[in-house]
Amino acid sequence: GPSVALAGLTKSYGATRALDAVSLEIAAGSFVALVGQSGSGKSTLLKTINRLVEPDAGGVSIGGADVRDGPAHHLRRRIGYVFQGIGLFPHMTVAENIAIGLRIAGERETRARVAELLALVDLPNDAGARMPDQLSGGQRQRVGVARALATEPGLMLMDEPFGALDPVTRDELGRAVRALHDRLGLTTIMVTHDMAEALLLADRVLVMKAGRIVADAAPAQLARGE
Ligand code: ADP
Ligand code: ADP
Repeated sequence: GPSVALAGLTKSYGATRALDAVSLEIAAGSFVALVGQSGSGKSTLLKTINRLVEPDAGGVSIGGADVRDGPAHHLRRRIGYVFQGIGLFPHMTVAENIAIGLRIAGERETRARVAELLALVDLPNDAGARMPDQLSGGQRQRVGVARALATEPGLMLMDEPFGALDPVTRDELGRAVRALHDRLGLTTIMVTHDMAEALLLADRVLVMKAGRIVADAAPAQLARGE
């Protein structure tokens, strides 16, 4: 996946400064975890990358190109986004939910691609015919990941993807996401409030507080308390 650079990103909501001149370089192909308390600006930072949030100042570039070059919907096809709660459409089957991200004309081609995506996230092919509420929480999160990967993005943004899960499922899904990252050569930025999860999965851990990055280290450094 591509490198990502943030330069002087600032965003306020009224008197709340959600991002305070954040500058950051994320290496191509790395897995970065963004941790910090609720309200520290993690989601806002993530959303400036795929232009769900427009910064007041500063900019974002992906692979050296400014995200404002070109329409936002083109940008978003190159960026997988797994958000909190996942947001599967309850009245659509799993296969239909995944296919939303695809822009393939033929029914047979769509079915083949959905099957590929289900396999990629280790879901059985017959899960495609089910409704989201017929899946476990962990399986639903996997559908969210499959949908995010539908357009073959190089960059994956994940906002508390495992928030609502029990610890065992959480751990299992975390490892699955890391394996996908490695296998597909993605650049991954994952928001989590769980430092243990960040240390386990990421190459680099960024800690946010009040709209700023207050720590930036490799997991081994943080674990030693440096
Ligand atoms: P985090 O993801 O770390 O919980 P957020 O980026 O969601 O933090 O929020 C950072 C701050 O900005 C918080 O104080 C939050 O209430 C505020 N904020 C975020 N989005 C909005 C919004 N759309 N309108 C008003 N305030 C917002
Ligand atoms: P997160 O903080 O991870 O974005 P939330 O559940 O806090 O998740 O927020 C859900 C949505 O509401 C997000 O799009 C966020 O930008 C927005 N939001 C967060 N805080 C506020 C706020 N104080 N006022 C209005 N919108 C907010």
